Amino acid sequence: MAGLATAAALGDAGFQVDLFEARGFLGGRATSYPLPGDGSEIIDNCQHLILRCCVNIMDFYKRLDVADRIHFHKKFYFMEPGGQTSVLSAGKLPAPFHFAGSFWKLACLGLGDKLSIARGLMALRREYGRRQDLDRITMLDWLREKGQTEPAIRRFWGQVLVSAVNEELDRMAASHGFQVFWLGFLAGSNSYQMGIPAVPLGDLYAPEAWKRMGNVRFNLRTPVDRVVVGDGSVQVVEASGKRHMADYYISALPFERLPAVVPDLGFDITGFEHSPITGIHLWFDRSLTQLPHATLLDRTIQWMFNKSGGRYLQLVVSASRSLVDMSRNDIIALALKELADFFPRASEAKIEKAHVVKEVRATFSAKPGLEQLRPASATKIPNLFLAGDWTRCGWPATMEGAVRSGYLAAEAVTSAAGEPRKFLLADIA
Ligand SMILES: Cc1cc2nc3c(=O)[nH]c(=O)nc-3n(C[C@H](O)[C@H](O)[C@H](O)COP(=O)(O)OP(=O)(O)OC[C@H]3O[C@@H](n4cnc5c(N)ncnc54)[C@H](O)[C@@H]3O)c2cc1C
Repeated sequence: MAGLATAAALGDAGFQVDLFEARGFLGGRATSYPLPGDGSEIIDNCQHLILRCCVNIMDFYKRLDVADRIHFHKKFYFMEPGGQTSVLSAGKLPAPFHFAGSFWKLACLGLGDKLSIARGLMALRREYGRRQDLDRITMLDWLREKGQTEPAIRRFWGQVLVSAVNEELDRMAASHGFQVFWLGFLAGSNSYQMGIPAVPLGDLYAPEAWKRMGNVRFNLRTPVDRVVVGDGSVQVVEASGKRHMADYYISALPFERLPAVVPDLGFDITGFEHSPITGIHLWFDRSLTQLPHATLLDRTIQWMFNKSGGRYLQLVVSASRSLVDMSRNDIIALALKELADFFPRASEAKIEKAHVVKEVRATFSAKPGLEQLRPASATKIPNLFLAGDWTRCGWPATMEGAVRSGYLAAEAVTSAAGEPRKFLLADIA
C-alpha cells in the first residue's frame, strides 16, 4: 500500500516510476486472492476497513478513481452474548456531542460505566496534544488513572482500540488510543463512519485503475534482492538477477525485510515486534444474520462482517496471540461456538466452506517507546527514502498510515529533485 501510494503521488506529479513487487499481485497486507483450494471465490486476506477520518487513503482511492467503491456505514452495532444489540450512531448535535443520544441508550453498558466513559472522553479532550508522557505509558495505565470501570474498559475502550490499533490495551502506547478516539470519535460528527470496500481489496488497485498514469510501471514477481550503495549513495538495485538504476530510490519494504535488502542503511529493527491478526472466513448453508457487521463483546472473536446475505461471514480477531498456535480446526470450532452465543441459528447451521488466515506479522506492535524508533522518510543515504506503515507517518499501522508514509516519501523525493510538492492531507483536527 505504501509503495502504491508513493507511485500514485509521484506518477500524478509526472515522475517516471518503476515499482518492484515480490508477489504476483498488488496490495501487500491489504489484498485479495482466490480462495485456496477452491478458486471460485476471491476473498480478502482479512476484512479491511477505514474510518471517515482516514483522509489520505481516500485521497489515494480518488487518485485511482475507486473512491466510490468504499461504502460508509453510519451505525456501529455492539452485540452481547445472547444477541442483545446496541447501536452507536451520530445524532443531530455537533461534535463532540454527536453521540449523546445513542451513547446513553447503549444497553451493553450500565449508567456508571457511561458516566465513567464520558469523564474519560472529557479528560482525553483536555490532555490531547498537551500531555507529554502518552508515548511512555500504556492506554490501560491511562484508563486506570482516569478511574474507568472494568466494563467500560473491556466493552468500550478495549473493544474499539484493540481492533483499531491491533494491540492489547496493556501493550499499546496511550498516544495511539488518544489519536483514534480524538480523530475518530471527537473531532467531527461523521469521522467515526466506517468505510468498507464493496469490492475485493485487490480490485481497488487493478491495472485499469492505473491506466491514467502511464508513467507508473509495475514489475510483479520481481523481488528486490539488494540495494547497492557506493560512494554514499544508492548506485543500483538488483532484482531477480537484473540491475536497475534511477535518480531516486524508495524502499516500501516491511521493517523485517529492510536490513537484508539494504544492509548499508544499518537500520536497527531491535525494538520492533509484530502483533498478529486472524481472519476466519465461514460459509454456511443458511443465513445467520441480516446485520451488515457487529462488534462481538466478551469473546475471542471481536468483529463479524456479513459478506453475503448472512451466509458468508468474515470474523476478525486482532492482537490474536491466543490463536497463533491453535490449529485451523480448533479455531473454526471456537468461532462456531462463539457465533452461536450471538446468532442462535449458528448452532443448527452447517458449514459449507471455511478458511482461516493467520497473519502473524500483521502489523508492528504499537507499544510504548516505539514512536521514537520509527524512522522518517529521508535516510542518511541522500537518494534513498523510506515508506511503510511502520515509518514515522504519525499514525499506527493502518492503511491510512501506509498511504501517509508513501505521500511523505513522495514529498521527500520531489524536494530532493528541486520540485517540492505537497501530497499529505492534514488530519481533520
Ligand atoms: C489481517 C490484517 C487486517 C488488517 N486490517 C486493517 C484494517 O481493517 N484497516 C487498516 O487500515 N489496516 C489494516 N491492516 C493493516 C494494513 O494492512 C497495513 O497497515 C498496510 O497494508 C501496510 O502497508 P505497507 O505498504 O506498509 O506494507 P505491506 O502491505 O506489507 O507492503 C510491503 C510490500 O513489499 C513487498 N515486498 C516484500 N519484500 C520485497 C522485496 N524484497 N522486493 C519487492 N517487494 C517486496 C510485499 O510483498 C508487500 O507487497 C490489517 C493488516 C492485516 C495483516
